Amino acid sequence: MTFSRVAAARDPDALFIRGDDGRDFTYGEFWALAGRLAAGLVAVGAKPGDRIAVQVEKSVEAVALFYACARAGLIFLPLNTAYTQSEIAYFLSDAEPALFINSQAQLMELAQGGEFDDAVTDASTICAILYTSGTTGKSKGAMLSQGNLVSNAEALVSAWRFTSQDKLIHALPVYHTHGLFVATNTIFLSGGQMFFREKFDASDVIGLIPKATALMGVPTFYTRLLQREDFTRELCASMRLFISGSAPLLAETHRAFEARTGQAILERYGMTETNMNTSNPYDGARKPGTVGKPLPGVDLRIRDGMIEVKGPNVTSGYWRNEAKTKASFTDDGYFITGDLGAFDEDGYVVISGRGSDLIITGGFNVYPKEIEEKIDQLPGVVESAVIGLPHPDFGEAVTAVIVPEKGVTLDAAAIIAKLRETLAAFKVPKTLHFVDELPRNAMGKVQKKALRETYGAR
Ligand code: AMP
Repeated sequence: MTFSRVAAARDPDALFIRGDDGRDFTYGEFWALAGRLAAGLVAVGAKPGDRIAVQVEKSVEAVALFYACARAGLIFLPLNTAYTQSEIAYFLSDAEPALFINSQAQLMELAQGGEFDDAVTDASTICAILYTSGTTGKSKGAMLSQGNLVSNAEALVSAWRFTSQDKLIHALPVYHTHGLFVATNTIFLSGGQMFFREKFDASDVIGLIPKATALMGVPTFYTRLLQREDFTRELCASMRLFISGSAPLLAETHRAFEARTGQAILERYGMTETNMNTSNPYDGARKPGTVGKPLPGVDLRIRDGMIEVKGPNVTSGYWRNEAKTKASFTDDGYFITGDLGAFDEDGYVVISGRGSDLIITGGFNVYPKEIEEKIDQLPGVVESAVIGLPHPDFGEAVTAVIVPEKGVTLDAAAIIAKLRETLAAFKVPKTLHFVDELPRNAMGKVQKKALRETYGAR
């Protein structure tokens, strides 16, 4: 299946995108915009297989450019707006794009293109390369085919029961798989519409909720909404689904959300290279602290504690990086996610962190999440991050970075004594640091690498 075939099945007069700048796009108008962008790209010399790099603020044109690339057999390469010049230099040298678009004005100029006849593409045609943030080493470009993306969107439409009646609040960035693919393609395949917001703003989203049916967010969206008194059960009466992913949703947030709204957040799990792998059920128990079961068509297994997946959703490999591609797949073709996890008694997957965040101290393995959960339960603690720092005797020393509640002063010795009651001595942090907030990226992921740099250098 290709995006062009999906588009042919859409009602051209149905609304697809309602912009926050007052511009609305029907499916017909949006597809025509993608066609003009495709014509514009071809007019400046882009040939099938060429990479088109783009670093712009969120806009309808930026998303349409992805579909333009799919239509023209080109490869869309979105770049985080936060990247600096030296980071951009690396991506450009690695991907060698035919064109680098870095302003909305350039996009608008391309959109002056004329009529466009779609190139011949099929499910195996690569239509995007997304560089992964990567916790170690240089970013790698995950190559994604139309088949990877369309098959995953089909699985999500059915798992989450999206229809043409849905109105999704889209407040995620579009340079990342969550906003670009999970949200946009799911709506595109269901024929529904989205409220397209430049960024997440709690009061703006609260204003939209009564007109919407679904929200896809990172955990931070939900903690921010819960901080607002005007976020109530009555406000959410028209909403049928709140979905969370890209970073772990605290079980506590899940429970607080249900207590406030009467609705359980549906948590799912995926990554740039694989699209979505698991989801809590639409009908049935959405269990806090779990990411649910494998989606239909996704084969997921856990070996030596590490999650491995296979299916039509999974990348064929990293751009021009045979070595990393080879190292990322098992001999029998499973992609090694780098995430640690286990199945619970009901077959739901529970993620215990990134393999690269595992701490080895005095020869013992310490899973940061186990320690973080204990610390987070202590009175006066909002949240914590546990990292390993180089240590002359132990190899790595367990270190905790803790966010206390506002106005609370925590006693490090008392915390350590309390943890000793339930944790083996080697798991108890040797040092605690107190901070106002943890460093997070735009997707809500705690930046452990940054923490290791900050506290390791001391
Ligand atoms: P990205 O490629 O930026 O989407 O990051 C993918 C990574 O985010 C995964 O490999 C997981 O480590 C993490 N992740 C995504 N969803 C979840 C989730 N629901 N719970 C815990 N971690 C998640």
